[in-house]
Amino acid sequence: MTIIKQQDFIDSVEAALQYISYYHPKDFIEALYGAYLREESQAAKDAIGQILINSKMCAQGKRPICQDTGIVTVFVKIGMDVQWATDSKTKKLVVQELVDQGVRRAYANQDNPLRASIVSNPIGPRVNTKDNTPAVVHIEMVAGDKVQVILAAKGGGSENKAKFVMLNPNDSVVDWVLKTVPTMGAGWCPPGMLGLGIGGTAEKAMVMAKESLMDPVDIHELQEKGANTPIEKLRLELMEKVNDLGIGAQGLGGLTTVIDIKIKDCPTHAASLPVAMIPNCAATRHAHFTLDGTGPSYMDPPSLSDWPEIPQADTSQIKRVNLDNISQQEIESWNPGDSLLLSGKILTGRDAAHKKIKDIVDSGKSLPEGVDFEGRFIYYVGPVDPVREEVVGPAGPTTSTRMDKYSEMMLADKSDGGMGLMGMIGKSERGDIALKCIAKHKAVYLMAVGGAAYLVSKAIKESRVVAFEELGMEAIYEFTVEDMPVTVAVDTLGESVHKTGPAVWKVKIQEAKK
Ligand code: SF4
Repeated sequence: MTIIKQQDFIDSVEAALQYISYYHPKDFIEALYGAYLREESQAAKDAIGQILINSKMCAQGKRPICQDTGIVTVFVKIGMDVQWATDSKTKKLVVQELVDQGVRRAYANQDNPLRASIVSNPIGPRVNTKDNTPAVVHIEMVAGDKVQVILAAKGGGSENKAKFVMLNPNDSVVDWVLKTVPTMGAGWCPPGMLGLGIGGTAEKAMVMAKESLMDPVDIHELQEKGANTPIEKLRLELMEKVNDLGIGAQGLGGLTTVIDIKIKDCPTHAASLPVAMIPNCAATRHAHFTLDGTGPSYMDPPSLSDWPEIPQADTSQIKRVNLDNISQQEIESWNPGDSLLLSGKILTGRDAAHKKIKDIVDSGKSLPEGVDFEGRFIYYVGPVDPVREEVVGPAGPTTSTRMDKYSEMMLADKSDGGMGLMGMIGKSERGDIALKCIAKHKAVYLMAVGGAAYLVSKAIKESRVVAFEELGMEAIYEFTVEDMPVTVAVDTLGESVHKTGPAVWKVKIQEAKK
């Protein structure tokens, strides 16, 4: 019988969560660097380059890879011969409480505070629990006398794209995946992995899909040795065919959409073929440790030589834009795919701020002083709190499609009851409603790279809260930025690079294979 001290478990969870907030797994960096070297689409290559530069900066600075520091998901495999112990003064906690205690401490770390993203009551006021608890905990009793823990911090953008289907037994999993991946857009911040759970029941398939993403990137080994089982064959087929879709990094069109396909399967009912698919994003964060009763588990820091040297982009030819003195004529000269370096003042706002603005407008009340979007740009972001000399913590873009339904309110002229916004900055594609609004009001939509949050934050030179302070990271801030790198994703005519890019690269890939 092994005795596991509660405190050892809590300390290990805390340490692992801090570790994965700033260290990408080595296998992921290597796979991403391989994709960077192979990439022929310049826009996609630049995006992967930014993710790799950001990754190294985070490892050096011990600050989060992404502003979304995730919902903590933990798989705990407890040996049947394990006993839990605490000292006589401490209350005995159940495993969920032990995990939550580790999460609470990790997210409140003074040197590297992580963003609390969990809201209670998913339907209702959605109040932030402020300590990122509760975690989602899966417990399995296994043979042995150890406790194995697999833990991840899963970003909302990629989790939101999870899919599930009950296929008929003879339906093609490949056909369903290839039909479904393009509907997921770029909000999951590719390149990343797709995790599939096949078989069992509906809920079993979803859990297997999530757990499959905890395995290392090893498709290159399978490509070398060849497939021996139907599942290995399926992995190889999907790897090739998903990349042939041409979606590319950040949905800009390119050769690499996925760096691996992971699959877990189990027996199912003769009438069923449950299939779950969950993507993992550019901020792949997971850790594995085992407790054997000898104390807490702490992972060794990686060597900085694990990160490749990515040449800094030559910015001398990139258009510089002064947002404090911008004209309609200037934004109409921008084309989809143009790279820009933004300087000047921008306002921020995301889901909760947009809802609050709409509620105020609908009630006929006035917006708080200082909330004036006329002729300005909004950045969809929920930053991490700053530490030490930082102006703001990691502050990458959030998925813009969630703000599509507010486009008319935000872009319409003030004289028509709108906010008179000139442009928006976020990540991923815009839906048809937003595209029509952008063209109607001759606005623009710019994208920053999702998963490069620490790098982006270095362009933010000043920050102040303008309104809705009670919303925490969802408050409206005013940022002063200097040379913030963005790409024109939708021009004033409503043409979207997320439509044209993948379409062009799908054809190029097909042509190259002939
Ligand atoms: S990389 Fe993208 S999907 Fe992943 S956590 Fe960051 S913003 Fe969310």
